[in-house]
Amino acid sequence: MNIAVCIKQVPGTTKVKIDPQTNTLVRQGIENIINPLDTYAVEEAVRLRERYGGEVTVLTMGPPQADAVLREAISHGADKAVLLCDAAFAGADTLATSYTLARAVAKLGNIDLSICGRQTLDGDTGQVAPEISEVLGLPFISYVSKVEEISNGRLRVLRLVEEGYETVETPLPAVISVVKEINTPRLPSLRGLSRAKSAVIPIWTAADIGTDKSMVGLSGSATRVVKIFFPKRESCGEKLSGTLEGQVDSLLEKLRTARSI
Ligand SMILES: Cc1cc2nc3c(=O)[nH]c(=O)nc-3n(C[C@H](O)[C@H](O)[C@H](O)COP(=O)(O)OP(=O)(O)OC[C@H]3O[C@@H](n4cnc5c(N)ncnc54)[C@H](O)[C@@H]3O)c2cc1C
Repeated sequence: MNIAVCIKQVPGTTKVKIDPQTNTLVRQGIENIINPLDTYAVEEAVRLRERYGGEVTVLTMGPPQADAVLREAISHGADKAVLLCDAAFAGADTLATSYTLARAVAKLGNIDLSICGRQTLDGDTGQVAPEISEVLGLPFISYVSKVEEISNGRLRVLRLVEEGYETVETPLPAVISVVKEINTPRLPSLRGLSRAKSAVIPIWTAADIGTDKSMVGLSGSATRVVKIFFPKRESCGEKLSGTLEGQVDSLLEKLRTARSI
């Protein structure tokens, strides 16, 4: 079982600022963390390797400092990591992000299963995993809450749905996205920490994944963020005073007037 896990570095705070010129996140001075749901994806991949053998490779598309989340994943048991980093990747929407990740999965070769988190803390679209499967032409299962079995080249999972669970089966290779009910991520081991520190993490550019620069980053994006703003709160309350009966009469009068407008 060779598994690719896509993980994203996200701001570890909700107090983010948006650059009004570029409409992108101001990332300077913000502590970055591994997207919390992606820690479940890494844990599941490591558990599957422990059950079925093979290798776990973690991938992230991001700036040079995203190297940190890859090392963190190695400390939690991943075998290898690749950083997808190129100025051409900047400004990517979900389509361009998925295309880049899918090309990297294809370059790894021989991947039986690609695992993503359900969604990210920042972008929060949940579009990347299904789009990766589309680019690769592979089956996709979302909201996976348990991997039941892998045998004879088929994967059987439980899928979390609004009313309960569904059992779904698919041939491999495939792409899945996982929910946090799937496992409890382990703490990093001492051996893992030492492997993470010394790991050599290759950096792949657009040329390395065999893609034209027009397919990635802002050029490969089908959408543009035109404006980002916080909606104005326009509530204007009125405090009634006087006796309780007086306040009720006054409220009823206001409602009657509002109704007749
Ligand atoms: C026009 C446009 C321009 C943008 N420009 C920028 C920009 O300049 N800078 C910026 O930071 N964001 C930018 N964004 C946001 C960017 O598109 C998203 O952050 C990115 O595409 C991932 O989408 P998401 O966060 O909604 O992921 P989701 O679809 O919610 O993520 C699901 C899962 O996919 C995987 N995944 C998602 N992203 C990555 C990744 N990068 N590497 C590895 N795995 C991943 C993870 O497993 C994750 O749990 C832009 C968006 C648009 C529309």
